[in-house]
Amino acid sequence: MRAIRRFTVRPVLPEPLRALDALAGNLRWSWHPPTQDVFAAVDAQLWESTGHDPVRLLGGVSRSRLEELAADEDFLGRLRAAEADLQSYLTEDRWYQRAFADVADASGGSTGGVAPRAVGYFSPEFGITAVLPQYSGGLGILAGDHLKAASDLGVPIIGVGLFYKHGYFRQSLSRDGWQQETYPVLDPDGLPISALREADGTPATISIALPGGPDLVARIWVASVGRVPLLMLDTDIEGNPDHYVDVTDRLYGGNSEHRLRQELLLGVGGVRALRAYSRITGAPAPEVFHTNEGHAGFLGLERIRELTVAEGGPRLDFETALEVGRASTVFTTHTPVPAGIDRFPRTLVEQYFAEGSGATPGVPVERVLALGAEDYAGGDPSVFNMAVMGFRLAQRANGVSLLHGQVSRGMFNGLWPAFDEAEVPIGSITNGVHAPTWVAREMFGLAAEQGVDFDDPDTFWAIVDKVPGDQVWAVKRRLRERLVLDARRRLCESWENRGAAKAELGWVDEALSPDVLTIGFARRVPSYKRLTLMLRDPARLKRLLLDPERPVQLVIAGKSHPADDGGKRLIQEMVRFADDPEVRHRIVFLPNYDIAMAQPLYPGCDVWLNNPLRPYEACGTSGMKSALNGGLNLSILDGWWDEWYDGQNGWAIPSADGLDDPDRRDDLEASALYDLIENEIAPRFYDVDEDGVPTRWLEMLRHTLKSLGPKVLATRMVRDYVRQLYSPAAGNARSLNSDYAGARDLAAWKQRVKGAWSQVRVEHVEGSGVGDAPQVGDLLSVRAFVALGELSPDDVDVQLLYGRADADDLLRDSTCTVLDLTESYEAGRHSFGAQVALEQAGPFGYTVRVVPRNGHLASYAELGVVSTA
Ligand SMILES: *Cc1c(COP(=O)(O)O)cnc(C)c1O
Repeated sequence: MRAIRRFTVRPVLPEPLRALDALAGNLRWSWHPPTQDVFAAVDAQLWESTGHDPVRLLGGVSRSRLEELAADEDFLGRLRAAEADLQSYLTEDRWYQRAFADVADASGGSTGGVAPRAVGYFSPEFGITAVLPQYSGGLGILAGDHLKAASDLGVPIIGVGLFYKHGYFRQSLSRDGWQQETYPVLDPDGLPISALREADGTPATISIALPGGPDLVARIWVASVGRVPLLMLDTDIEGNPDHYVDVTDRLYGGNSEHRLRQELLLGVGGVRALRAYSRITGAPAPEVFHTNEGHAGFLGLERIRELTVAEGGPRLDFETALEVGRASTVFTTHTPVPAGIDRFPRTLVEQYFAEGSGATPGVPVERVLALGAEDYAGGDPSVFNMAVMGFRLAQRANGVSLLHGQVSRGMFNGLWPAFDEAEVPIGSITNGVHAPTWVAREMFGLAAEQGVDFDDPDTFWAIVDKVPGDQVWAVKRRLRERLVLDARRRLCESWENRGAAKAELGWVDEALSPDVLTIGFARRVPSYKRLTLMLRDPARLKRLLLDPERPVQLVIAGKSHPADDGGKRLIQEMVRFADDPEVRHRIVFLPNYDIAMAQPLYPGCDVWLNNPLRPYEACGTSGMKSALNGGLNLSILDGWWDEWYDGQNGWAIPSADGLDDPDRRDDLEASALYDLIENEIAPRFYDVDEDGVPTRWLEMLRHTLKSLGPKVLATRMVRDYVRQLYSPAAGNARSLNSDYAGARDLAAWKQRVKGAWSQVRVEHVEGSGVGDAPQVGDLLSVRAFVALGELSPDDVDVQLLYGRADADDLLRDSTCTVLDLTESYEAGRHSFGAQVALEQAGPFGYTVRVVPRNGHLASYAELGVVSTA
């Protein structure tokens, strides 16, 4: 019989055990092994069978066991210690408080930065722990790691996302290897989240007007991620019609309109949820809004509504409000795959932002449409582009690795057509990963034996050379063994699912070995990640797997988007290969890749393989998690690996980027991959000394930890965001926001400069000081005569660009110097001058140009105008 309604009854713990509730209610346990130990001590078996889920553990443990624990002084002591530790973690000063200590009031100081009182971080998915499955892949895991690292550093972030009733899907396989999807129902009452409530106890809600219907209403769940609250909007509430209840049904499901409703809820609803949260808890309002990928971009429109027409708001004009919003917004773009950019039919957006009845009433719909318009060469006029809107609503924007920043500048050059690609104002901050979540306990244990705490990263990397090789190798074997056991358990389960009888599965006990070189490959399965590249030459792969002296084993996992049959075909191809009795003990495909699988997977692998089609991997983070566990990366030079591969910390698979023929490209890259495994990797792994320790392998492992360890940390990433983006954004926003006078001036100045720009010209440039035979060391004097029309010299910078000139007179890697005003003449004419030393022999060139200047601009390219000699 099927229940018509279901809810979870939360246990009432005996008074002495109340602290367990507090520990379970803060997700910090998910990256804090000592707290996990306390839960394991409650009931070790239940802890395992619930998949390390504290809420389910406490819901399932027997009364008698609870009473026993309530009288167990030893246990109570540990419980008190864990609670005290959590309390101090939540309240003590951390990096952020120290870094900005002397600017507590935030108006400048020795660090030269403004400390935002709060930052709103919006993302369509968050991957924090396996027990809160609200993610599909890297984007969500990154968002989770961002919140955790912010918590560790004391950065006052508030996360904003959606609560999906089914999360993403659970993956299993049919008999013939076809991906099957199921959508388990998540019951919020059984999860480590709690409802945001008004003072009178009723659940807090927000609402959004939708065309032709009642308002969409959502409640707000709060997850505590250490010090960071994560607000999650949920439309599954009484009163919403069924098709509204379904708005938050699942992640990345449904048609365009469904997705649009989700994104309206995330962006517009997210800002309203933040306001409710501040009103109820007294938490400071964010001074910076960070949108993690385009999906949350509508938040900028809601902020414009607040500033222009909202009751009790400052009633600014649109242009001024836009400046206020832009100054305080950071946009991170995540995909270099054009098809991955989030776009809607323009007519659909028009409908949802219709005058008067739309999601942000009072914000003119034509302004909304203009913000997402692809009104540049090659753009599609019928489309509303969320990335384009993201750039227009954020003064600061970045990609997620150096290479991705560069690719993004090319991809979005159309928004700043007057500038060269290199000058497009999109920077980059390379992603990082949260070590306490991803590094095996045993690895921390090795450091602890040397008296070093991971909390102190500097000293942690310094001791890498001191840990004896045999100890490192013993730990790596233990981690490999754990992975092997976990993989066998999953294989068994999967085969039973696929219809095999237990009696047929004897071979699974022999699948994989803790002593064989283990290569991991796990990630989502979009085509650019090329899951099946390794199958290009199946016979050759087979030989590598079955090599009698130096065998290799492969552990593979990944979900395909439910609507992507191409991806499912790749999975099927892989599964069929791995089903072959000849190789099935050396290659396994494990269904349902998620955080729970990933945690033992990275530490258990010796090599982490990544073979995307360059340059489509924006960053990639799984290889970073592997590196922190002493895994060596074997990867195409794409994303982060392009930046940090140094020749000794792993292997680069040569990429045949230039080739047009994709088949030939795959052939070449696959064959390079086999060569590396056969000639470099396997020989090194199996080259052991008399104690069985592969010393040359360990050299690379140590070098990997030392060279990559400090760089790949999410704490490094979050510090970069704070220093390079959040703090400058907050600084600019504050100076614009007091009375909004600054914002008004800036908006008026931009109008004036754009209006008058057609009169700006470089009329004449004189160079002197170098004779017929210029030599290194000569001083070049440049004088530029410039017409500014109605603009004054204060409105512009006259720049001298100089450097090596190529055969077509193009400047390569030019240096930029600002010329000084030397004289003003009649009718808006001025001269500017500068002197530069010729420092390099060879062809030299220079040019002069005029760009707008204003202290509130983040880049001279911001207005998109320039006048060149
Ligand atoms: C790290 C991680 C990812 C992202 O991996 P990429 O290398 O960036 O593709 C995806 N899923 C899970 C479960 C992860 O832990």
